Amino acid sequence: MAQSSIEWTELTWNPTTGCTKVSSGCKNCYAEIMTRRLKAMGVEKYSQGFKKVITHEDTLHIPYSWKSPKIVFVNSMSDLFHKDVPLDFIKKVFKVMNENPQHVFQVLTKRSGRLLELHNEFKWTQNIWMGTSVEDKKTLFRIEDLRKTKAKVKFLSCEPLLEDLGKIKLKKIDWVIVGGESGPHARIMETDWVLNIQDRCTENCIPFFFKQWGGTRKKKAGRLLNGKTYDEMPKIKHP
Ligand code: SF4
Repeated sequence: MAQSSIEWTELTWNPTTGCTKVSSGCKNCYAEIMTRRLKAMGVEKYSQGFKKVITHEDTLHIPYSWKSPKIVFVNSMSDLFHKDVPLDFIKKVFKVMNENPQHVFQVLTKRSGRLLELHNEFKWTQNIWMGTSVEDKKTLFRIEDLRKTKAKVKFLSCEPLLEDLGKIKLKKIDWVIVGGESGPHARIMETDWVLNIQDRCTENCIPFFFKQWGGTRKKKAGRLLNGKTYDEMPKIKHP
């Protein structure tokens, strides 16, 4: 596990590593850049590079060892629903999450189709927050997929937000995160696109989390929206 600088979580836990690009949001993938760096530093877990998806059985015990309840981003360096992650392994990851109700596990995927195909195979405990990325209009279908699953808490990550999402439908969605892309090749995010999503959240009483503006100077751009920070999250139900 690793402490995370991602604003909406505390720790990352990566039972799988590696991925392949699937949509526009993947263009400047952070996990790919980090994998390259970690491989160059000689970190064994990342030695096979980014494009090879690998399951790490030796990470499955880790959540049992955390002494206090944590909020955990599962697979910041991969996508749990990638076609190369065997169903049996995904089931093992779910078992760990089911057996650790004191922690909140945030699982985020761009493979909403496979999630929907497999969702009946898993036990959806309240501590599993299932999210999908929606970066542009082409990826709005992922919301429909997510909505049809049995996940008890469902969220959207609109990051990197690449265009106005229009009249986004948020029925049965419990949380929305919005953020702009950062890094040397960051694409622009316009204020109106963010405000549109925020308005939809307000209308539907959905917690709204504004992560960052991003850009080439992420720290300077900050995370104020109309002079305020928005760090809303779903209520955590402790067992
Ligand atoms: S799905 Fe996520 S981890 Fe995989 S390439 Fe796209 S952005 Fe990177």
